Amino acid sequence: KRTGFAIVGLGRLSINEILPAFAECSHARIAALVSGSREKLAAVGAQYGVVEGSLYTYDRFEEIADNPDVDVIYIVLPNGMHREYVIRSAKAGKHVLCEKPMATNAADAQVMVDACDDAGVTLMIAYRIHFQPHNVEARRFVADGTYGRLVGITANNVQTVNQNGPQQWRHDGDLAGGGSLPDIGLYCLNTAIYLAGEIPVEVSADIYSPPGDPKYAEVEETVSFRLKFPSGTIANCFTSYGARDDKYQRLNFAEASVDMPNAYSYRGQDLWVASKAGDTDQKAQIAISPANQFAAEIDHMAQCVQSGVTPATPGEMGVRDHVLMEAIYRSAREGRPVATPDAGERADKA
Ligand code: NAD
Repeated sequence: KRTGFAIVGLGRLSINEILPAFAECSHARIAALVSGSREKLAAVGAQYGVVEGSLYTYDRFEEIADNPDVDVIYIVLPNGMHREYVIRSAKAGKHVLCEKPMATNAADAQVMVDACDDAGVTLMIAYRIHFQPHNVEARRFVADGTYGRLVGITANNVQTVNQNGPQQWRHDGDLAGGGSLPDIGLYCLNTAIYLAGEIPVEVSADIYSPPGDPKYAEVEETVSFRLKFPSGTIANCFTSYGARDDKYQRLNFAEASVDMPNAYSYRGQDLWVASKAGDTDQKAQIAISPANQFAAEIDHMAQCVQSGVTPATPGEMGVRDHVLMEAIYRSAREGRPVATPDAGERADKA
């Protein structure tokens, strides 16, 4: 039997990516929808064949507890609402898949982990890159030592938000928890840790926001941050809301550099390896079949729930990343590197 998912929040990500991805899932199905808009519920429910009794407005959220078709609740709301809805889902006795960033601070994220532990339900954070095939292959290069030691990582995630008005929730400090860093810079942070296979011991950062721009009254525009890993690998990360879209990742190994355009995009990744064959420089594209990373992520949660296994991207990983993002903000504020021993401890629990 396929695992049934209730999707909470029918915004851009749910409509454009998550709901369509279920068509490519093998272990999961759409079982229920939750939205504040009855019109949206009716239209999207009809499109995906969700029965009337499984369409919920927020005031009826708790009734999902009595719906045996729902195994997992997938929270796709603004970041500042994740905590409340993860806790309500856990209390309803349902497993939870929560969009990134997990919360708006590490303390809230830990409360969410504890709530799911207390309720005996599984909590996974929707870090889709762990299920994106080009990144999985790059991780294998590091783990297998294919090109020798991983010396450095460069990670850029830049997305212009000029089309967003300052009223969009991503520019509201309480609803977003931060600007480019938790929204898109988190991909650089989380993916660098995934690829390196270790947790940074120190971070340093600079932040800039254009003065007087109402979009950046409460959240930041641009963050440049550096991660030092225990093995000596260094990651240079850059994220911004202010420049043309760019999602680029480079791994500098002792014997090759591995480039990935569109590294954090929904689709369109390429993997290029530049190396030497004898005295000759060569650059080759590695052929990898594209796959829907949302479908892979949702199927992973479904299989974890079916077999009682901890997800590859558990709630504790979300807490860890919030601890590190708080250290990044602190480093920028204080103008000095910040040691991050507590991030490793969080990860050990994961
Ligand atoms: P969105 O603004 O398009 O959708 C948010 C939904 O929440 C809307 O349907 C909105 O009506 C609803 N909502 C309920 N209460 C609200 C309130 N008080 N204020 C604003 N909206 C409210 O946002 P989105 O881009 O779909 O992002 C939703 C979540 O998904 C965020 O946590 C975001 O970080 C995450 N996200 C993840 C990815 C990814 O690739 N994994 C991509 C985009 C967004």
